[in-house]
Amino acid sequence: MRKQLDRWGSLADLFLKAECPLCQRPAADICPACLKQLQQCRLPQPSKFWHPPLPVLAWGSYGGALKRSLAALKYNNQPRIGRLLGHHLAEAWLDSPAIGHSLVKPLIVVPVPLHATKQKQRGYNQAELIARAFCDRTRLPMSQGLRRDRATEAQFGLTPEERMQNLANAFCVDDRFRKRHASKTVLLIDDIYTTGTTARSAIHVLRQSGFGVAGILAVAKAEMQG
Ligand SMILES: [Zn+2]
Repeated sequence: MRKQLDRWGSLADLFLKAECPLCQRPAADICPACLKQLQQCRLPQPSKFWHPPLPVLAWGSYGGALKRSLAALKYNNQPRIGRLLGHHLAEAWLDSPAIGHSLVKPLIVVPVPLHATKQKQRGYNQAELIARAFCDRTRLPMSQGLRRDRATEAQFGLTPEERMQNLANAFCVDDRFRKRHASKTVLLIDDIYTTGTTARSAIHVLRQSGFGVAGILAVAKAEMQG
């Protein structure tokens, strides 16, 4: 009997410890209230920014619950949020079939990498988690074709020129990726799109390696211009 009670006790503990990663209220996963708030961040037209010179498709606007979700994903060790956000991004992609139809095939999804030291600290690359969930839904293939060889200072507070300088040669294309996927068109995936400096730097090295790059898909687009 005692053993039975202990078992129920630890089950109850387990249940009580399960909480929403955004508001910490008891829930098995993200709670309905937070999910609703997250939905309010959705952009009415995700493909609105899909035009040259740098086509961007974004699921939501960076702020409110989406900003909190991305912070929890990156700084509070909540990788499960990456899955949810990746599925949201897949919805935005699947709701924009004209884009998919207009691109030169075959496509390959490449997450924007973190520097190895940073990834070790965090335990994962949030863009990769988002890309994996995105590819589960869209059935597109994914490959970690880029590496970030140089640690870059925080981009915040830098002028556009300083940002570009900061990121110049930060990325390099993986040799195996170059050989295996040479004829494919790359779709980059990142968590947040702000000024486009990171995307431009990644696109630059991919193009230098002979890849076609269609554009970048991001969960959130910040309003900031630059
Ligand atoms: Zn919640």
